Amino acid sequence: MNTEEMVVRCLYCGAKNRIPKARMHDRPLCGRCGKPLDEIVIRCLNCGAKNRIPETKLNEHPRCGRCGASLIITQHQGRPFEVSDATFEKEVLSTPGSVVVDCWAPWCAPCRLIAPVLDKLAAEYAGGILIAKLNVDKNPLTASRYNVLSIPTLLFFKNGELVNSLVGALPKETIEQNIIALMRKN
Ligand SMILES: [Zn+2]
Ligand SMILES: [Zn+2]
Repeated sequence: MNTEEMVVRCLYCGAKNRIPKARMHDRPLCGRCGKPLDEIVIRCLNCGAKNRIPETKLNEHPRCGRCGASLIITQHQGRPFEVSDATFEKEVLSTPGSVVVDCWAPWCAPCRLIAPVLDKLAAEYAGGILIAKLNVDKNPLTASRYNVLSIPTLLFFKNGELVNSLVGALPKETIEQNIIALMRKN
């Protein structure tokens, strides 16, 4: 595979597009549906409207198209981020939209196996979901609260509510199907 290409998932039709990195600044369009690919969906925390913002405008203090409030751009758009017993409430339970929590530990070989898969999915679905990582050794309270008995376990949250979970190092396709189902869930 050419390392200078990025796989970008179209947030409108779901098609995967391979875009040369150098072309990402030229407002690339989806090969299937023709919609722009460089947009990130950011939900307005004031009115709840979804705003599609081109990546190149993310640092220009974008505002909500419906109510005019400033949009909060999280620093971990497109990348898994660490959560802990202390931050779980704020980063997962109080976060609107779709959050997948990867319960893992450093000694767990199957966890290491799915880590790059989750990195990839976080990037492909940037703007649609957040992927959080919970080290169960360091954060036993959250792990026991959700009855995580074996790892890896993926917990799927929608608007702070646990709606699904997957146990084991499952194939990317399976995890992806569950991510799509989570994003479509209202
Ligand atoms: Zn498309
Ligand atoms: Zn708004």
